[in-house]
This record gives sequence, structure tokens and C-alpha cells, in this order.
Amino acid sequence: MMENNRGVWVYMEQKEGRIVNVSLELLGAGRKLADKLNVPLSGVLLGDKVKHLCPTIFEYGADEVYVMDDPILKNYRTESFMKGVNHFAEKYHPEIFLFGATPNGKDLASAVATDLCTGLTADTTMLDVEVETRLLEASRPAFGGNIMATILCKKHRPQMATVRPKVMKALQPEMGSKGKIIEEPLDVEEENLRTKVLEIVKDTKKKLKLDEADIIVAGGKGLVDEKGFALIHELAEVLGGSVGASRDVVEAGWIGHDHQIGQTGITVTPKIYFAIGISGAVQHVVGMKNSELIIAINKDANAPIFDASTYSVVGDALEILPILIEEFKIALK
Ligand code: FAD
Repeated sequence: MMENNRGVWVYMEQKEGRIVNVSLELLGAGRKLADKLNVPLSGVLLGDKVKHLCPTIFEYGADEVYVMDDPILKNYRTESFMKGVNHFAEKYHPEIFLFGATPNGKDLASAVATDLCTGLTADTTMLDVEVETRLLEASRPAFGGNIMATILCKKHRPQMATVRPKVMKALQPEMGSKGKIIEEPLDVEEENLRTKVLEIVKDTKKKLKLDEADIIVAGGKGLVDEKGFALIHELAEVLGGSVGASRDVVEAGWIGHDHQIGQTGITVTPKIYFAIGISGAVQHVVGMKNSELIIAINKDANAPIFDASTYSVVGDALEILPILIEEFKIALK
């Protein structure tokens, strides 16, 4: 009975007692949908000793929080989290249910959707709702990024989507906002769970925080070879920025995939984005176009990257980069 499904829900992913940014961004997006549909916006929060996060969820726009607090939920496991989330979903029937497209968010959303026998649109970049039909319009790039496909889930509820980090905007928090807390126990026994967390080994490598960098210097195949690409590292270092790359550069093995910007890499919104020797294919641009200021260097005056750039420099990057590096070294001394 789809008419019984009401309300917009956002899964509040938390890590070590902190809500991840994408969940707060989704509250911003969810608020608009809920207001259009004239229904409450709810956060769904699971974990061990996480109740203290409820005020933050209200401050970022939720009217209600469904919370399940249990030591079994200390570490993320698909089975226990799916059972907890679906306890709420089966009892309270949301109409729309959004998850961040993080590794855990994607894993959980697909398990939840399968168990609830409903559809899920992955990696959405735009969300809207058609008020008359109450259909969620979840849009994402399709066919190699050449078109935007809007995907509807007409026959099943809830309508579910995962949304990439940094695509939606969180609301300004309203300090002191209050709402309703619906707390229920987890009906799962530890001995019945198939997965045990034996140990958590943290990656001790210096974490690349590309999606949090203020300055990104990104290079493409126009740098010709690894030696040319080394100039990108040099400029990034001088500016205190991070290094980004196009997919072709990653495929050439000049740098690892965790530096790839774009549709099949990460989405970034730095204050300054340098696109150097990058043609500006739609699959790249979709991952950086919301940067505050974009400076492109390309020897082809008709390169599509110039359609997205704030400042356009037509010229040979291999000649321009050493000059920029020297000038910035002097200026930033
Ligand atoms: P090229 O297209 O080869 O462009 C090189 C540019 O450098 C040209 O514009 C050229 O004029 C310029 N140039 C050459 N020499 C110089 C010089 N000396 N100085 C200055 N400029 C110079 N791509 C991504 O980046 N990210 C993704 O996530 C991504 N996902 C994809 C997903 C799918 C399904 C598909 C089909 C493609 C995807 N791509 C992605 C690939 C994308 O379509 C392009 O092929 C890729 O972005 C091109 O990389 P590039 O700009 O480095 O290389």
C-alpha cells in the first residue's frame, strides 16, 4: 500500500561518534523534498552511544530522528545495520530514503533496498520530486556521462537513492533546534550474526584529503609523460595544494586512482582548481565544475575545458608550469 508511505528519511552515517558530512548535506536536500511534499524530514541514526548526535541532526534540518543505540552496532556490519534500518522502515513506512554514496552507505542502501524489495538509484547528482505523483526524480549521468538520466521508482516504496558527497549543500545549522526522537531497540543477537569484527587496522599512510583540499592542481595527458606530470606535483607543493588527475593519466599509470577527478573518480569543490593539459571531457568536468575558481591551461584554444574555466590560459603547459612554479616560490616566500 504505497499511500501509507509518507516522509523523507536520511540515513545518518556516523564514524567514531561523528556524523559524516554527506549525511548533513543530504538533510539539506531532504528538507527541500519534505517541504514540497509537506511531510516530516527524519534522520535514521544507528550505532553505539550515538544518541548525543540527535541535536546536531535537528540543527541541520530534521524534524525527527529514528535512533537505535546498541553495542552490537559499534562497528558497521551489513547485516546488523540492515536489520536495524529495516525495523524502522517496515514499521514507519518512509516514502523517500536517501543514503550517502560512501562505501558503507552504498553497501547498506543496496542491502536495505533488496530486503524491502524496492528500487535504488545509485550515485545520484540531482534530486527533485513531482508533487502531484509524489515521485522522486533521481538524476545521474548515464551512457558514459553523455546524458543525464532521471530515474523513477513508480511501483515500490520507499523510493531510494544514494548521493555522492559534496554534490548537495548542507543547511546553515540552526542552533538549539529541537525535534522528536523515536528510539527503538535492536532485535538482533550477536551470536546470530555471520560477521564478527576481530580487529580494525587503520591505514597509517598519510591520508589524501583531495575532497577537502582548498587548492587542487590537476594534470592531464597534455603533460605528455611522467616527467611532465612531475611539474603538477611541484606546483601543488609550492601552493600547499593536492594533486588531481584525469582518468587518462591514471590509466597511463602516472598516478594512483585515488587522485582521479570526475565521474568515475571523486567530486571536488576546492577554492581554486587548476586544470592543466586536461581537455575537459564531460566525465572530468562533472567532478570539478563546482570549484569556486577554475584556472585552465591548454594549448588548444578550443579545448572544452575553457567552457568551464574562470581564467583561461592558452599555451604550452610544459613551458608555463616552470615559470608559475618559480614565480609562486618567490611570491609565497
Ligand atoms: P586528452 O583528452 O588526451 O586531453 C589532453 C589535453 O591536453 C588536450 O586538450 C590537449 O589540447 C592538451 N594539451 C596537449 N599538449 C599540451 C601542452 N603541452 N600544454 C597544454 N595543453 C596540452 N575522465 C576523467 O578525467 N575522470 C573520470 O572520472 C572519467 N570517467 C569516465 C567514465 C566513462 C564511462 C568514460 C567513457 C570516460 C571517462 N573519463 C573520465 C574519460 C574522459 O572521457 C576523457 O577521456 C579524459 O578525461 C581525457 O583525459 P585528458 O584530458 O587528460 O586527455
